[in-house]
Amino acid sequence: MADIFLTNTLTRKKEKFAPIKSGFVGMYSCGPTVYSDIHIGNLRTYLAADILKRILLYNGYKVQHIKNITDVGHMRTDEEHEQAIDPVIAEALKQGRTPQQIAQEYTEKFFEDEKRLNILPANVFPRATEHIEEMIKLIERLRDKGYAYETDGAVLDAEGGAKRGKAGVRGEADDESFGTVYFDVKKFKDYGKLSGNTLDKTNKLLEAVRVSSETDKKDSVDFALWKKAESGRSMKWDSPWGDGFPGWHIECSAMSMKYLGDNFDIHTGGEDNVFPHHEDEIAQSEAVTGKKVVNYWIHAGFLLVDGKKMARREGNVYTISDIIQKGFNPLAFRYLVLTAHYRSRLNFTWESLEAAQNSLNNLYREVTGFATSDKPKVARLPTPNAPPDSLQDAAASKRAGVGYGGQGCTECEQKFLKAINNDMDMPAALSVVQHLVKSNCPTSAKLASLYKFDQVLGLDLEKVAAEAAKVPEEVRKLVDEREELRNKGDFAGADKLRRKIREKGYEVVDEETGSRLKKAV
Ligand code: AMP
Ligand code: ZN
Repeated sequence: MADIFLTNTLTRKKEKFAPIKSGFVGMYSCGPTVYSDIHIGNLRTYLAADILKRILLYNGYKVQHIKNITDVGHMRTDEEHEQAIDPVIAEALKQGRTPQQIAQEYTEKFFEDEKRLNILPANVFPRATEHIEEMIKLIERLRDKGYAYETDGAVLDAEGGAKRGKAGVRGEADDESFGTVYFDVKKFKDYGKLSGNTLDKTNKLLEAVRVSSETDKKDSVDFALWKKAESGRSMKWDSPWGDGFPGWHIECSAMSMKYLGDNFDIHTGGEDNVFPHHEDEIAQSEAVTGKKVVNYWIHAGFLLVDGKKMARREGNVYTISDIIQKGFNPLAFRYLVLTAHYRSRLNFTWESLEAAQNSLNNLYREVTGFATSDKPKVARLPTPNAPPDSLQDAAASKRAGVGYGGQGCTECEQKFLKAINNDMDMPAALSVVQHLVKSNCPTSAKLASLYKFDQVLGLDLEKVAAEAAKVPEEVRKLVDEREELRNKGDFAGADKLRRKIREKGYEVVDEETGSRLKKAV
């Protein structure tokens, strides 16, 4: 197998990937909290994981991919009321439905959005609410090893000020007042190894990301493993600490280790997951097992809008439905994501999406041209106004080592593999694609290579070409003739042929970058 290099957040280095078990990769990705439509920022992170998984498959690995569904416990700070809320429950109250209905609806929508972007489904999508038992067991093990302590839960007094809770041992005081369990961070010596937020750094930094109402902790760096259910809460489970619900971090520790074991290969997420979520996951999992849990931590950079992180609370989110409504192919967003390195931040603009759509259309036109080149050249329509490939970055071409002039497909295949295996350098890989398209290697070989590359790119190249190849020969001929007339400036003649083509059930769409054929509706 070829060498694959990945930047590991844990070591802050680009490392050669070495699987635990030869030929097999266990991979865990933090999935969505299902209380609303996911946005394209979330999807950028899921796309990074998808591309990594496809690269591993392309290299011949078997991949066991787990992506969790957070349907309880991922608390958010409600800024208006300055308190921690469970967004699934909050949405249920808002809509007058049950939290289960909300979670189910948005889980299905999440699956649909991933499908629209050709994100390969994970092997397992474990739901947090279906793994409470595993989480409780993990917390018990942490408690037995002295890493967890129970308190009387957090409360705010009538004036909104913090009431200091008391940490203690069940049985020593009124048991009724207990019920919240925290991880005792000071006991875990390696805390901070992923994010650099070690204990000797200020607590202020840590406090900034903790929910404001957790006033009952021994130390502000401690985080909740189990939370006592507030009165009236519907989503709660019986536990050794009374009725309650799990903390967000313990969910991922429990589910990743259940499906992939105590030590697995790869864990992915967005850059904001590094701290506290993944740091806390390491603390929990490694405190329990005493060994390293994840070998490679891979994090995707943010999708930004006007330089700011795309986030619901910023009010700057777009969804895949928004993209479709504006007339874009969702795969144009996939293409846009491929034009940037996964670790760099990417500023989203509609102009950049349009440029990605144009590049994708050009690629489709080329591929369908190759696929039908033994027949009249219909799909290979000229692209007189094709913009310079604005998304093609010169540095990527250089990294990919592709120069102008003809090249054999074998050489392109080698360069493609080198690019994708070099820390997922997809801009360089796209550069190889462009050069292969323009190269003078035989059409059938070009197509074979492009279809192979599409196992990683996920742009539906074969499907689009197959659709085009289904166009009857007479229609293809008419399109060619029309294109010639257009080029000669005979627009009346071209319009006549357009009508003829429509009678045969096809529509010619003239775009800035050339003409395209689609089935008339
Ligand atoms: P959340 O629902 O906030 O937990 O986010 C789900 C996933 O999307 C996490 O892995 C986050 O790191 C990731 N994510 C959230 N916002 C963005 C963004 N603007 N750009 C890239 N990834 C994001
Ligand atoms: Zn997670």
